[in-house]
Amino acid sequence: AAPGEVLLSVRGVSRRFGGLVAVDDLSLDVRQGTITALIGPNGSGKTTLFNLVTGGLPADSGEIWFDGRRIDRLRPWRRCHLGLGRSYQVTRLFKDMTVRENVVAPLADARWRTMLSDAVRGHEAERARELLDLVGLGRFAGQQAGALSYGQQKLVELAQVLMLEPKLILLDEPAGGVNPSLLGRIAEVIRELNAAGVTFLVVEHNIPLVLDLCDPVAVLAGGRLIAEGPPGRVREDPVVLDAYLGA
Ligand code: ADP
Repeated sequence: AAPGEVLLSVRGVSRRFGGLVAVDDLSLDVRQGTITALIGPNGSGKTTLFNLVTGGLPADSGEIWFDGRRIDRLRPWRRCHLGLGRSYQVTRLFKDMTVRENVVAPLADARWRTMLSDAVRGHEAERARELLDLVGLGRFAGQQAGALSYGQQKLVELAQVLMLEPKLILLDEPAGGVNPSLLGRIAEVIRELNAAGVTFLVVEHNIPLVLDLCDPVAVLAGGRLIAEGPPGRVREDPVVLDAYLGA
């Protein structure tokens, strides 16, 4: 997609759990080149929406389009190969493996799925090193992942997601549990990647960070989109203040 064009389009998507409507006829567009925020109170449907987009959960109704294709019936790994990346709130690194091995790990699965040739391998180590340098962890490449701080592990995860060259990254609480000294670094890495053409959809509870980093900001409440727009406007929207920010 060209800058400003719709990259991800969620169209009238719903998902119920028993009698509970977690995502309620939701429509949301993420445009190429943006760092779009998805905020809202606990239980508003943010994680469910991420799972619907990545394919961890099937939608009950509606359509999801990514980069010009309908993806809501595709298996999660197919969506991943189309350029949809995701990082996780709970770190899923292999703590006993080195940082470098962790960054390359997603490719093992990707190769098995697509029968990529071994010729790619030489580039992998190189690419892993570039990505670790990019997130500022080059000097930790040979260390055990489990020995890094929580915030550093989040940066390793980001490098891991980048290994698959995503067009869009769904980021789940990049700042959650991260020590303040690394927060600025994480925001800077997201900005750099964005400048290099990666689009982001970010769930984050740190509102000052969201307002600083993201544009537009989409606000969910009760599985519905209650506001969307530039951070300055959303921050002052009475509906948002009432449902969320003022709470
Ligand atoms: P958020 O990420 O905004 O906190 P969630 O998407 O996790 O919200 O949850 C939205 C609603 O759906 C909540 O009421 C939650 O309890 C419910 N929910 C989420 N996942 C499940 C599930 N697997 N089974 C039953 N209810 C669920």
